[in-house]
Amino acid sequence: MPGSIELATCLERMDGRGYKAYRDTLGVWAFSDFDLHIDHVQSDPFASPSKMRVRVPLAIALLPDGTLSNRIREIASASFLARRFRDAIRVVGPRRVGTGKSGLITIDAGGQEVLERTAVVFGDGFVEARIEIGLPAAGRRILADAAADLLVGALPQIVNHAWLDRNEETDTTFVSFVDCIENQEFVRARLASRNLVAFVGDGARLPRESGASERPLPRRSTLPFESPETFRVEFEVPHADAGAPGSVWRGMGIPRGVVLLVGGGYHGKSTLLRAVERGIVPHVPGDGRETVVSDPALVKIRAEDGRAVTGVDIHGFIDHLPRAPGSEKQLDTHVFSTTDASGSTSQAANIIEALEVGTRGLLLDEDSSATNFMVRDARMQALVSPRDEPITPFLERVRELYDEFDVSTLLVMGASGEFFAVADAVIELKDYQPRDVTERARGLAEEGERSAGTTRPRLVTPLLRVPDPDSFDARRGRREVKLSSRGCEEIVFGTTEIDLRGIDQLFDSSQTRAIASAIRIAATRFMRPNRSLSQVLDDLEALLDREGLDVLDPFGLSAQAVPHPEDQGDERGKGRHPGAFARPRRFEVAATINRMRSLRVSSFDRE
Ligand code: ADP
Ligand code: MG
Repeated sequence: MPGSIELATCLERMDGRGYKAYRDTLGVWAFSDFDLHIDHVQSDPFASPSKMRVRVPLAIALLPDGTLSNRIREIASASFLARRFRDAIRVVGPRRVGTGKSGLITIDAGGQEVLERTAVVFGDGFVEARIEIGLPAAGRRILADAAADLLVGALPQIVNHAWLDRNEETDTTFVSFVDCIENQEFVRARLASRNLVAFVGDGARLPRESGASERPLPRRSTLPFESPETFRVEFEVPHADAGAPGSVWRGMGIPRGVVLLVGGGYHGKSTLLRAVERGIVPHVPGDGRETVVSDPALVKIRAEDGRAVTGVDIHGFIDHLPRAPGSEKQLDTHVFSTTDASGSTSQAANIIEALEVGTRGLLLDEDSSATNFMVRDARMQALVSPRDEPITPFLERVRELYDEFDVSTLLVMGASGEFFAVADAVIELKDYQPRDVTERARGLAEEGERSAGTTRPRLVTPLLRVPDPDSFDARRGRREVKLSSRGCEEIVFGTTEIDLRGIDQLFDSSQTRAIASAIRIAATRFMRPNRSLSQVLDDLEALLDREGLDVLDPFGLSAQAVPHPEDQGDERGKGRHPGAFARPRRFEVAATINRMRSLRVSSFDRE
């Protein structure tokens, strides 16, 4: 295998030549501590940067003991090492000379959440960083010296600084990072048996720096969380002093059932709900939410007017819509489709779609809900007969969802006391401090006072929808497969634009990228007649569990530029730089599919 000296010579020879000559560097180069795999060379200095992998033998990396001893610790270690790599890029700070993306080095290390991702992976006896590098050019002419500085000079320094040059202190930080993540997953795995949907640790710091940032508000302006006595639970975690002091985590257990968060405006209700919303995945030490842990099958529900809905049975919430003037047909809400849902119909569809793919709990905030979907108070019922109101408000279904479907609800509701009568627990936030007001709320509910006399048909298990694989056309222009994504906001699948802004629990732009590829794989491999959306997602999750996120490899799907010279048939792209992916949940994959305006479905009964 040629070494770094040969790479330097190879670069020297191409000085001043056209950018395409960089393709001579494709292949593997042996450095003293690692192999550099150059998998893909960008087509010009302005294109997305070149893709490379740095593969270090574990015998050289010598990771601290036990950091890879199970799957959770492996994901946490990969996250830690990716973050170290990103920090090292900053510290070493390679010179950026030239045009376009010349000299840029990036790694997809992620944000406050720790997700399974492809930036750093462990293989048979090695650890590998997948990075992107902008190969330097002046105009479109190769700058060989700058390229050698970057690849042969800066890169080994970065690897050294990030991974090899560790001391006792960095290893302690490493191990406690991994321990902290494992503690969170330990508690998560035990929520169900303790009959909880979520746990919020005493001392947690929930508020964020700003509406546009997930970083914590400075300590001095934050009131740490403290559980009311009546909701306090304890977990004995495996690692002491990782996430919270000592090895017993104390905090508020949010029980299964119907739970209300009430309180005056600006007293911290939405902040608590948002922490629970994101507690479906672990957070990094220092985030403030290291001890906020939720059931991974909780789904945030909001009104999302304007979204498309395809073949969803929302009649449990909305029935007998008025006939449009001049139209013969009544809108059928048993199989409801629209290109432009209203606030209430979108919220109903969001709930049914979450049930369809197996949610165990709904999270709702009055701030992002349609008022008419949530409640109809007694006066309005007296004035407008329930027979003329198509909406069965959430208030009248929330108990049934729990009693019949085992789906809990955590609801922020400061404006209406109507929910007191149906709640199992009521938590008031006052000056950011929670307290138990369940008894008082019960007293105020005064049984029977509500005109619950409207007899509604029971909520039934939603019909299972079967997605039609032909609705997922990935072609764009001359390309067989073209998938692109923008942040957490949009995917363009072929020519279909999908608006993701209503999906609150999509955290990371690399999840968005992963979803685009995952849908393509699901459509081509798993969608078949009589295979429901939920079953298709089972298949997809099994595939990701079995083969890892690398199966989403865009090289094989939508190679961003020139095909690799070694690309052949099915082996195309295999085992090479898989881009930047983070694992999405089934709920967000489903939510994306559900928002595709090209979606076509058929439906069948569960039985
Ligand atoms: P609500 O939903 O009750 O109206 P929010 O949750 O939106 O209130 O909180 C209002 C403001 O208070 C936000 O700016 C939030 O960052 C801040 N905040 C929330 N909890 C805390 C806390 N524990 N300490 C300090 N500030 C907080
Ligand atoms: Mg609020």
